[in-house]
Amino acid sequence: AKTLLRSNYSFKIIEIGDTAVGKTAIKVRFTDNYFKKDLKTTLGVDFGTKEIKTSYLSTDLLFSGTYRFTARMNVWDAAGQDQYDKIRGIYFKDAKGALICYDINNALSFKHLDKWVADLEENLGKVPVLLVGNKSDLERKVSRQEGLNYAIEHGFLFIECSAKTGENVDEMFEKLAIEIFKKE
Ligand code: GDP
Repeated sequence: AKTLLRSNYSFKIIEIGDTAVGKTAIKVRFTDNYFKKDLKTTLGVDFGTKEIKTSYLSTDLLFSGTYRFTARMNVWDAAGQDQYDKIRGIYFKDAKGALICYDINNALSFKHLDKWVADLEENLGKVPVLLVGNKSDLERKVSRQEGLNYAIEHGFLFIECSAKTGENVDEMFEKLAIEIFKKE
């Protein structure tokens, strides 16, 4: 089978969702990047970055085979709601993909998803979106099926993860990277 190598991609990824669902924790778990914390309070936004290598099997008519690629994932994480409102413009600008996050232990954070989806559609338009049910290490108040149904309804990818244990965190960024790569 054929393999195509691609590299030098750089994807801006934004995280949205209620306060305290674990957006910062997910980003930090992914990038192991603890040192830029101060930026968040001064600019209202924090960044984490990490290069990933991944691959996917394409059954495309133009190329059927394996794509291997590397992509730098630049993850943007807004501070509190008031900050977020101020920086909305630059926050969404040129984002290639989004993580819409809720907390499986917090039903309200799931109920609020419509608001975040509307925000995303208004400010960014159609990009690959991954719906993330975080805190899978805690007792669940939102079933896996509810999360999955919501994602299917909106054409999003779906994953449950724990920033605390690290479960599915790398997998989630890989999943999103592949979806973005397909559109490049
Ligand atoms: P943000 O406001 O969405 O950025 O949320 P934070 O990342 O600041 O997390 C809010 C709180 O939830 C903090 O006390 C975190 O330690 C905690 N937290 C984040 N992710 C997890 C997780 O996967 N499991 C558990 N048990 N707690 C988490």
